[in-house]
Amino acid sequence: MSPRNNNIEQKALKLVLDAGDDGLIQSDMWKCLDVSSREGSRLAIKFEEKGVIERRKVLHEGRWTYKLFSKVKPVTIDAIIDCPCVACDEINRCVPGGSLSPLDCRLLTDWIETNTINPQSSS
Ligand code: SF4
Repeated sequence: MSPRNNNIEQKALKLVLDAGDDGLIQSDMWKCLDVSSREGSRLAIKFEEKGVIERRKVLHEGRWTYKLFSKVKPVTIDAIIDCPCVACDEINRCVPGGSLSPLDCRLLTDWIETNTINPQSSS
């Protein structure tokens, strides 16, 4: 992939991510990127195939088009502030392979399970 294409893909993904739960009309994406509608469609299909976005068919200004939704959520400090490791007294002794390990910590496992969206149940 050329650096230009890579740059366009990154910008496209950022646009979809920034649109959040409102989603982004596919034509708005390719207009912002200053690429053709064909190139915009190709990008959207590629992202959907990779599983990073969802394309939903919507009626927009009297025409059927696609709206793009990010399946990737930005990581914020709010997302990890209640992770048990943040306030754990054992954090300096906790290493993979050690007597205390994040790989078998029940507190961390429970937190991850509680805070992870199960892809099987979301749609
Ligand atoms: S993985 Fe468990 S033991 Fe290790 S720092 Fe996090 S909460 Fe503490």
